[in-house]
Amino acid sequence: MTQQTDSAEARERGYALVGPVRHRRVLVVFVDALGPSQLEASGGLGGLTHRGHLRGILGYSCGALPTLLTGAPPERHGRMCLFSHAEREGGVLAPLKWLGLLPRLVHERGKLRRAAAKVLMKTAGLTGYVDLYRVPPELFRWLDLPEREDLFNAERIGGVETFLSVARRAGLRVFAAPWQMPEEDRWAHTCAVLRARKPDLAFAYATELDGALHRAGNGSREAWAAARRVTERIERAVEAMRSGGGEVTTVVVGDHGMADIRDVVDPRRLLEELRGTRLFVDSTMMRFWGDDRTLERARERMAAHGLWGRWLDEEALVKRQAPVRGAPYGQALFVLREGALFAPSFVGGAVRGMHGYDLDSPSAYAAIASDAPVPEDCGALADVAGWVCSMLGLDVARAGGETGQHGGPP
Ligand SMILES: [Zn+2]
Repeated sequence: MTQQTDSAEARERGYALVGPVRHRRVLVVFVDALGPSQLEASGGLGGLTHRGHLRGILGYSCGALPTLLTGAPPERHGRMCLFSHAEREGGVLAPLKWLGLLPRLVHERGKLRRAAAKVLMKTAGLTGYVDLYRVPPELFRWLDLPEREDLFNAERIGGVETFLSVARRAGLRVFAAPWQMPEEDRWAHTCAVLRARKPDLAFAYATELDGALHRAGNGSREAWAAARRVTERIERAVEAMRSGGGEVTTVVVGDHGMADIRDVVDPRRLLEELRGTRLFVDSTMMRFWGDDRTLERARERMAAHGLWGRWLDEEALVKRQAPVRGAPYGQALFVLREGALFAPSFVGGAVRGMHGYDLDSPSAYAAIASDAPVPEDCGALADVAGWVCSMLGLDVARAGGETGQHGGPP
């Protein structure tokens, strides 16, 4: 970059580039389910020499991706699991109660659920990721979908600015891959745009490794084939980005890893025993709402069934920087030990690989790889946004992005 890029408009709004006018151009490639061991098993995805691992978050991709983009922990941006407890009943999902009028064999059909999700997105104006999985229809009355927006194009997620929006406001040319596009088309589009528009910051997105690892597990032929395709696409994208000239830095980053499933826990008997308790069964956690007695009983039932895992009460959730204000994801939850899976859960059936375990599990770590040395203080998912901004010459604190350790109190 040689030209001054902080536009008059950006300056007026209080956002400005400080420091060197010359900055690097940055290509960030987000690879879903790229943990440290997946990166090694994939041969480094194109041989970026500098590699590291990042502490992740408690929850799933819908929490990890906002942390990567904003540099804030889930307690700040408020995202953790796809479904939360609505502030009041009769929220955005409530109209779906009608699914409960149909026989279960019918309303659990993927085709019907996808059609219902489509109608919901249209009528409620949702632009984020919507999937109704196998959520029992009677729960829609009190459930909510926190992800209402397109994460790559939203100015803020849960009130916190993303590094993409900080760069856009600073007047930089920014490209973010349209995540809604099928994989192959999205990458073709990405490479074409990188060549034609020469963005200062590009955010590419690979989903297929996650899908392959869920279906077939680590070390599978399917995962290896997916990793090879991702490697080729990254190489093509780097080449396309470099054709724009200037100094280019590539950062490949995941949101979590993947654990192989060794132990499938059928929760149906437990659910029978806990009938009447407000709860949600994710693939790796059972989340609870209720008074102390209710929670104590739930905890006792988990122990009685000899489930291996951890009971996380409010204090434990605060320690993990999970959102607790209003208990959107449960007043307490039981998270299975790594390698175990609830199936059938409210979000799916048995699979070979899963993530969403406690923070000290190897699969809770994300991998990072770059052609530039990864800074020493970039040790968590929440630190990446600050690094990207500093490479672009953006003063994050002044821009109000509040990313990572650079951010002030809310
Ligand atoms: Zn996944």
